[in-house]
Amino acid sequence: MSFQDIRAEIGADKILAVSKLQPAAKIRDLYQQGQRRFGENYVQEALEKQELLQDLSDIEWHLIGHLQKNKAKHVVGKFHLIHSVDSLELAQTLSRQCENKGVRQRILIQVNLANEESKSGFDKQTVLASWDELCRLPHLSIEGLMTMPPLTESGDEVRPYFQELRELREKLASSTELTRHPLKTLSMGTSNDFRVAIQEGATLVRLGTVLFGARN
Ligand SMILES: *Cc1c(COP(=O)(O)O)cnc(C)c1O
Repeated sequence: MSFQDIRAEIGADKILAVSKLQPAAKIRDLYQQGQRRFGENYVQEALEKQELLQDLSDIEWHLIGHLQKNKAKHVVGKFHLIHSVDSLELAQTLSRQCENKGVRQRILIQVNLANEESKSGFDKQTVLASWDELCRLPHLSIEGLMTMPPLTESGDEVRPYFQELRELREKLASSTELTRHPLKTLSMGTSNDFRVAIQEGATLVRLGTVLFGARN
């Protein structure tokens, strides 16, 4: 399946090209084919690629990998959207760093729906319990939710997680303090299961392997 086929199938605005561990030249190549949104996992690598590709002025960088609090100061204002906000403490740190820099940062709340030890993310109860506090952080704009379901062979096994994320968004969106938090984005689905994710309402699917081939 080529990039153009996938784009024709699901629409350009839903594709986040995950370029971690791929060389900048491959990003440039996909950009030249029309892709604008790129997602990176590692802060250092992402910032290096931003440097290398700074001539591509309308490229949109997303951070999707686990973010340590002590790196928050390096990322605020540098990414269009941070998908991987996985604790209240991290959100608080990001908001403080935004204040220092005089910027506002768009974020997603990462939810670990299967409560897997190996994955980061809020569990559902904690998101609900922390929600008002998250919404009050002055320098963040919460644009939606992100999840990374358990690895399985078939897309259908992950469907319930995608449904659950959509329902959680609906529930949160109907709660009070949301006037400045659009909650429009559902970042879910990867190369393995993006079609199921789209059926369940994903607004962004994070595609690595299917666009770039295997990583190094
Ligand atoms: C690597 C990664 C992806 C992309 O996975 P593929 O299977 O290569 O499509 C998506 N989301 C996150 C959080 C990732 O780390």
